[in-house]
Amino acid sequence: MSVIEQSAATKYPDVRNYIGGEFVEANGSQYIDVTNPASGSVISRVPLSGVTEVDRAVQAAKKAFPAWSAMPIKERVQVFFRYKALLEKHIDELAALVSEENGKTLSEGRAEVLKSAELTEFACSLPQLTSGEVLEVSKGVECRVERYPVGVVASIVPFNFPNMVPNWTLPNALALGNCMILKPSEMVPLSSMRLAEILREAGLPDGVFNIVNGGQATVEAICDHPGIEAITFVGSTRVAKIVYRRGTASLKRVLALGGAKNHLIVMPDAEPDMTSSNVVASMSGCAGQRCMAASVMMAVGKSDHIIERMVSIMRGITIGPVISREAKQRIERYITEAEEQGAKVLVDGRNYGREKGYWVGPTLIDHVRPEMRIAQEEVFGPVMVIIRAKNVDEALEVQHRSKYGNAASVFTESGSVARYVMETASAGMVGVNVGVPVPREPFGFGGWNESRFGVGDITGKSSIEFWTKSKKMTTKWNKEAGVNWMS
Ligand code: NAD
Repeated sequence: MSVIEQSAATKYPDVRNYIGGEFVEANGSQYIDVTNPASGSVISRVPLSGVTEVDRAVQAAKKAFPAWSAMPIKERVQVFFRYKALLEKHIDELAALVSEENGKTLSEGRAEVLKSAELTEFACSLPQLTSGEVLEVSKGVECRVERYPVGVVASIVPFNFPNMVPNWTLPNALALGNCMILKPSEMVPLSSMRLAEILREAGLPDGVFNIVNGGQATVEAICDHPGIEAITFVGSTRVAKIVYRRGTASLKRVLALGGAKNHLIVMPDAEPDMTSSNVVASMSGCAGQRCMAASVMMAVGKSDHIIERMVSIMRGITIGPVISREAKQRIERYITEAEEQGAKVLVDGRNYGREKGYWVGPTLIDHVRPEMRIAQEEVFGPVMVIIRAKNVDEALEVQHRSKYGNAASVFTESGSVARYVMETASAGMVGVNVGVPVPREPFGFGGWNESRFGVGDITGKSSIEFWTKSKKMTTKWNKEAGVNWMS
């Protein structure tokens, strides 16, 4: 029986952990509800696993590691060619599941699954990218570099991309020979369960990929477990710091991606139609719950003609709900506070007119000042604030003051202004006339400042360094080789 087939009590049965190739009950764990954000109804329950479950998964991964890591990479990636084809085959069902547990629209769910397929495509190219280096360093003496997997690794993921963010790490980490424990967000655990089923169908050996469900205690057990060598984390900056500190304190490799506050600089010469539609798409897609969503528009000089277009586009779009009642209340509090502090709400997403579920409509707030909370903190909802600036330097100054540094974009027709912003913005991912400047494979995903702790990017070529350790080998097979300090 499929682990997420329908049951009578809730639409889906209780979520299980996936350990050693089997879906198993999390013994003795407390369960919490999984809800559909569009209706607020309970669709399943998820266990909050602790130390014992994490250890069970680590033991299963350890058992699988010798055979999996010894397999040539060209053989390992065959699993991912099949996995990619299965993701594409099941795209409608996977997109519907993402939409049901996360709230995003079906087309956003499809886009997410397509991105998972693209990430897997990159993993399939890893044999080409990881071919070693070799050089004759002196007569008859050769140096070469080979890459080895780090061992049992863990990936801790957030709620906003239940299908895609697990695929930022799992295809690359596994193709490179590691065995993984995934800790899904307790708010959206169902998509990960389906990914486990699909990986099994693709022929992944038991124990190479495991899932332990839960929240804080599960994450802490992962950070502390001596059998786990490396951890990636994607989520809020508050928790990224906790995981980075705790994971490195137990001497693990950690890469922790945090929250964001992304600035879009709109110059007076920006092409009005493209700019207004791109800016609105960036702030409203996935109900603004993207770490790459635009949340501050720096309007340089005269830009009322663009703002008017944005207002009219926002009034006509449909977006999904936000993840929870708490998220809805938090977002609405930010809007109300900004209004009380004198900002002007041009489009108001409060009281979105639905009885059930957690809905907030697209919201545009003008005349926000840089020192306001809404201009500085991550709102993580479909809210965009406009801060007026006299020139590009004033706009960049506001961007620089942010503690985050995920993305920044400029909309302009001027090549020199574009280049200036590209060089000067304090962010890891910068766009020109692009609302969501997500780098696509083979480029890596990763921000600056408090949007990322640790070295390197989480996807693309940069991830090879994180998921492997290099071995440098020096050999001498030539008896005639000259005697030197290495002999
Ligand atoms: P979150 O930080 O609340 O949760 C992320 C993970 O950490 C979850 O698996 C959760 O169970 C766990 N967790 C929560 N509290 C914990 C605690 N006190 N100790 C240990 N573990 C804990 O994030 P979220 O609400 O699921 O996701 C939204 C956030 O993720 C936003 O801040 C967003 O910007 C960020 N995000 C960042 C990126 C990026 O690439 N930088 C990508 C996606 C999302």
